[in-house]
Amino acid sequence: MSNQNISVTLSSTRRQKPEDDKLVFGKVFTDHMFVMDYSGDKGWHDPRIIPNQPLQIDPSAMVFHYGQTVFEGLKAYYSNGKILLFRPERNFQRMNQSNDRLVIPQIDEELVLKGLKELIKVDREWLPKSEGTSLYIRPFIIATEASLGVHPASQYKFIIIMCPVGSYYKEGIHPVKIAVESKYVRTVAGGTGTAKTAGNYAASLKAQEVAEESGYSQVLWLDGVEKKYIEEVGSMNIFFKINGVVVTPALNGSILEGVTRNSIIHLLKHWNMPVEERKVSIEEVYQAYKDGVLEEVFGTGTAAVISPVGDLFWNGEKMIVNGGETGELSMKLYNTLTAIQVGKEPDPFGWVVEVEQEEK
Ligand SMILES: *Cc1c(COP(=O)(O)O)cnc(C)c1O
Repeated sequence: MSNQNISVTLSSTRRQKPEDDKLVFGKVFTDHMFVMDYSGDKGWHDPRIIPNQPLQIDPSAMVFHYGQTVFEGLKAYYSNGKILLFRPERNFQRMNQSNDRLVIPQIDEELVLKGLKELIKVDREWLPKSEGTSLYIRPFIIATEASLGVHPASQYKFIIIMCPVGSYYKEGIHPVKIAVESKYVRTVAGGTGTAKTAGNYAASLKAQEVAEESGYSQVLWLDGVEKKYIEEVGSMNIFFKINGVVVTPALNGSILEGVTRNSIIHLLKHWNMPVEERKVSIEEVYQAYKDGVLEEVFGTGTAAVISPVGDLFWNGEKMIVNGGETGELSMKLYNTLTAIQVGKEPDPFGWVVEVEQEEK
């Protein structure tokens, strides 16, 4: 299947590109998109690059009613005339894991990576070049079968759209304020938490809104059963540095396994730093805080890479982490990972993938 030909239809008009310092996340998209269709008789077929344009979909399409859909998020970086991707194969592997959970047919990971590289080449002018900027890539799949019956759809579209994004930390890294959520849950083990699917995000909006009303930027999710163990922060994975040891919740069937999370664990092990994947309760974190050994807290994800937590609100108490400042380890991880991503530091794990200019 990976030797399916990807056809290219170029757009006759070109959109206005925003300047690097005026980039707003997810608002302006590049001139082209990658599309591929699925039908029961043909499987995935007709991979193509076409002008970015509105879709024509029947209002009864299953995605609108039952949310059968998955997505991914990754970035391309400009580096001295080259274009680099960071561990893109993991995103497409994860998409297939999400597909499995949502009963969406498996995609050919090699073919879509090839399609992505072609798309980036076609829209290469859109790659912002200033420090900290990147091209955000959003692959997604929607169930397009026109039917209100509840069953896995027989028709789908796989699409990749891209948008230039500015530096996440224009004014330097600043720790965020987080409220521990004890009423709402994001998901439960056995649910769809391990899949990157729209419903998880829809389920998170209410808690996010309540937190924002109280001046917090995100919520810390606890497990959906006992509301005792920490799962994630907003839509990021979370790490704690307690008394010199880095701890992150073990993958338990409801946490989404981030590519950034996995990379951070590799880096820490490479540096011979103690790192543990295990259950972490909110009580343990609070006790560490009381004992003066809660040294750092940070979220990890593609958008921010590292997002330090300076203020953690739980049970009427405010835990101020590291004096509300970015910790030394958070900073070192951020600097190292972003430097590897843009090819400024050696890549000991072979994570960076170059989008070849003369491929075909
Ligand atoms: C995407 C996502 C993450 C982070 O994954 P990365 O691959 O590191 O970007 C973490 N948690 C949730 C719920 C997510 O959707």
